[in-house]
Amino acid sequence: MAVEFKKIKNTVSILNPMNAFKEDRQHTEIRFDPLTGVKRLFNMGLIEKAKMFYQPVDETLIETIANKTKETCIFCPQNLEKVTPKFPPDILPEGRFRKGDSWVFPNLFLVYEIMAIGVIGKEHFLRIDEFSPEILKNCFSTIIDFLRTVNSRKPELKYAIFGMNYLPPAASSQVHPHNQIYMSKNPFYYVDWMMRESKTYLDKKSKNFWDDLIETEKELGERYVGKTGNVEWIASFAPMASNEFIGIVPGKSNYFEYDDKDLDGIAEGLSKILCFYKKDLQMESFNYILYSGPLGGKSDSFQASVKIATRPNFNGNYINDIHFAPLFNMENWFANPPEYIAGRLRDYF
Ligand SMILES: [Zn+2]
Repeated sequence: MAVEFKKIKNTVSILNPMNAFKEDRQHTEIRFDPLTGVKRLFNMGLIEKAKMFYQPVDETLIETIANKTKETCIFCPQNLEKVTPKFPPDILPEGRFRKGDSWVFPNLFLVYEIMAIGVIGKEHFLRIDEFSPEILKNCFSTIIDFLRTVNSRKPELKYAIFGMNYLPPAASSQVHPHNQIYMSKNPFYYVDWMMRESKTYLDKKSKNFWDDLIETEKELGERYVGKTGNVEWIASFAPMASNEFIGIVPGKSNYFEYDDKDLDGIAEGLSKILCFYKKDLQMESFNYILYSGPLGGKSDSFQASVKIATRPNFNGNYINDIHFAPLFNMENWFANPPEYIAGRLRDYF
């Protein structure tokens, strides 16, 4: 088999008070990411039991916050041009980048050379299943046009990533839908790691890791979900976060290589996954990222991809899913195995 999916199975036990303290043998799996080797863990008996630990979404709380923040929202059309920062003229003489109802402007405080907000349209709040492929595609194409404009003036800013935080459990402080956009002259840590490992794979095997990954996942059929346009969707074998899917754009290594069909495919896939999160998993907070190689470059070993995962549901007393072990020890475990969520998501494709 082309790509190796390394896992170690184990059995552990407790005396379970819910079964008269009889021995409860539980099956665990340690998995290693096939590209980076990062370790992840599963308890195979936890399927669907995550709902025992995470409370359901508080619809009333979401409605209340969406209504309460509408008037003063800095991303809404009545306030945006009055209160949001502008780029300096050497980056963007017009100050803010605009395409229709979508805007890109700087964050108030920066840690990268460019840290921008990409506001997705004039609607103050969208429920998780209201992100249509059209809305997402328009957002991505606006952001990529912005990156192209800045990169043409500042070619040294060739590294870029962007993504979305949705609701406070996913680290969003504003309910108005928006993406975060970063550009730097220095590589981003995880993208750089993936690029290095992809190069090593090509050097060792004379094959592209991403092509091999798609081919192997299709052959196995356990985690492969389907295709939207050019984009191939898979449940991650060793995910970074809960209910994680990856969309690979074959043959494209960075945003500037994307054509219309690629953007359609990414937007359509993400929109389907968001509906799946709400309807099937009843999870309504998420993060996604669009990874890219250096802008304008061409890599024969790396392929651009999208990653999306759920975060805890928003309610007054939600339990966060980043605990001490992933925070300080870079190891995390998850309830739903990738094979389980892939099987369920297929119905939406
Ligand atoms: Zn708003």
